[in-house]
Amino acid sequence: MNYFLSEQEEMVKNLFSEYVDKRIIPLRKELEEKHEFPREIFREMAQQDFFRIMVPEEYGGLNDSQLQLSLGIEQLARGDGGIAVSFAVDAIATNGIVLYGNEEQKKKYLPGIADGKIITAFGLSEPGAGSDAAAIKTKAVKKGNKYVLDGVKQFITNGEIADIALVIASTDPEKGYKGQTAFIVEKGTPGFSAGKREDKMGILSSVTNELLLDGCEVPGENILGQVGRGFYIALGLLDRSRIGIGAKALGIAQGALDEALKYAKTREQFGKPISSHQAIQLMLADMATQVEAARLLVYQAARTADSQEKKLTKISAMAKLFASDMAMKVTVDAVQVFGGYGYMKDYPVEKMMRDAKVTQIYEGTNQIQRMVIARQLFKDSG
Ligand SMILES: Cc1cc2nc3c(=O)[nH]c(=O)nc-3n(C[C@H](O)[C@H](O)[C@H](O)COP(=O)(O)OP(=O)(O)OC[C@H]3O[C@@H](n4cnc5c(N)ncnc54)[C@H](O)[C@@H]3O)c2cc1C
Repeated sequence: MNYFLSEQEEMVKNLFSEYVDKRIIPLRKELEEKHEFPREIFREMAQQDFFRIMVPEEYGGLNDSQLQLSLGIEQLARGDGGIAVSFAVDAIATNGIVLYGNEEQKKKYLPGIADGKIITAFGLSEPGAGSDAAAIKTKAVKKGNKYVLDGVKQFITNGEIADIALVIASTDPEKGYKGQTAFIVEKGTPGFSAGKREDKMGILSSVTNELLLDGCEVPGENILGQVGRGFYIALGLLDRSRIGIGAKALGIAQGALDEALKYAKTREQFGKPISSHQAIQLMLADMATQVEAARLLVYQAARTADSQEKKLTKISAMAKLFASDMAMKVTVDAVQVFGGYGYMKDYPVEKMMRDAKVTQIYEGTNQIQRMVIARQLFKDSG
């Protein structure tokens, strides 16, 4: 298929793809069993310059695009959904600093992010505020030129490994979402720690934690953007990162399709490979068609982000929604192609099915994506 990728985009895709084939696919079973974030893999990815993608050249990056980031995430997810999401979430705070940070913040953090020495997290969700992000309770109270943060952030990807976290807190609770502010909180700040590590269904090579803020004093210069703009910053970042979740779902589905095709050619029943049974052929044809449709939508959303198009909200929600629902269906079908063996951990398709599920949930559930799309549809139609 020709996706009209430039030479540079093809190169990025191939770089990630080769790394995934060489390093991640052979390791993924072990990563899954260990239930631990593989630091060594992140170090290797840094050596490959993968973390330079979203960072502008003047801060040590490659000034690449959302499409290149998506191509990279897609390839990583073809190998392992956990590594893909750790990488994708790292891009959220990175994007935050690139898009909303001041010069001092960019100089302070972006070179380390580009080198892969600073890992980031994004702390929006709370125990009582998931879909309803306007309902967050974490408070930031001004004290001199500092802010004192108190609260709990829930289900934070990279929580315990992050060197900095972009935390959304309420500086003026009476103003609701208009009183939210974004802070860069550094690891080691007194009163800031990672809490419980979640025991998850899938993406086991990614760590998910509570982030605890207990009288945590953050300097005023660590405010990202302006006071009162935190909610808008979070929504702006989610418009972009949802494309990454779409790319992640796409990669998982492609990986499952590849495995199903390979298996169908070798498994024999009734004296012939199951690939010659029409029921299997039709299932594979549907899977492949859905993967291609999702790819076109994800790439289109990424291109929309790169063209600075203002109307990103609807297409990024569509890409995330369609690709994640597709990944769930395709991975379930891949398990079906494997029959009983698909249900066993000896083969990777059951892991892909578990890894796919969360793409329908995080960065806004698919119910929320449908609401976002519907709202935009009515807005656009006047
Ligand atoms: C593995 C993992 C990693 C995560 N990583 C991060 C992270 O790095 N940073 C971060 O900030 N968050 C993170 N999250 C949180 C994630 O974004 C939330 O779980 C998600 O937004 C849903 O919120 P919730 O879990 O509180 O569900 P709820 O909001 O309680 O939703 C429960 C159900 O109700 C539905 N629902 C809610 N409101 C409506 C409505 N108005 N109309 C129709 N249906 C509705 C939802 O779709 C869902 O089906 C992560 C979550 C997981 C599972």
